[in-house]
Amino acid sequence: MTASSSGDAPGKTLNKTPNKTLFQKIIDRDLPADFVHEDELCVAIKDINPGAPLHLLVIPRKPLPRLCDAGVEDRALLGHLLLVANRLAAEADYGEAFRVVINNGADAGQSVFHLHVHILAGRPLKWPPG
Ligand code: AMP
Repeated sequence: MTASSSGDAPGKTLNKTPNKTLFQKIIDRDLPADFVHEDELCVAIKDINPGAPLHLLVIPRKPLPRLCDAGVEDRALLGHLLLVANRLAAEADYGEAFRVVINNGADAGQSVFHLHVHILAGRPLKWPPG
């Protein structure tokens, strides 16, 4: 399967592709996931391949491919994603230390081209990340 046939290829414009991203399929309940949060702007799920005892993904319903595709009109949405991440990390009871990561672009490790915020906690986290 190619990246474009999986629906995960980055796009310059939104909603121009008939293919849904993996995360759009999860949001639409076409695919299963372990949901930990849902509201009008975003959902949060457990990462299927966790890199730490706590590894959640906060995913906007708006299918922005990458962070760099966001504009000033997304200011409130981006703030909301961070506040949801903040609350989920606090509720997870892994202490005060947690990391929030957004991979922007394939060379930065992005593999699903639907913006998402990683939340990692529950183990010592080294810096810089690999
Ligand atoms: P990134 O590499 O930043 O695009 O992150 C994508 C994340 O999605 C990775 O951490 C994957 O483990 C995770 N992932 C991929 N498929 C699924 C899935 N079906 N359910 C939950 N998480 C997934």
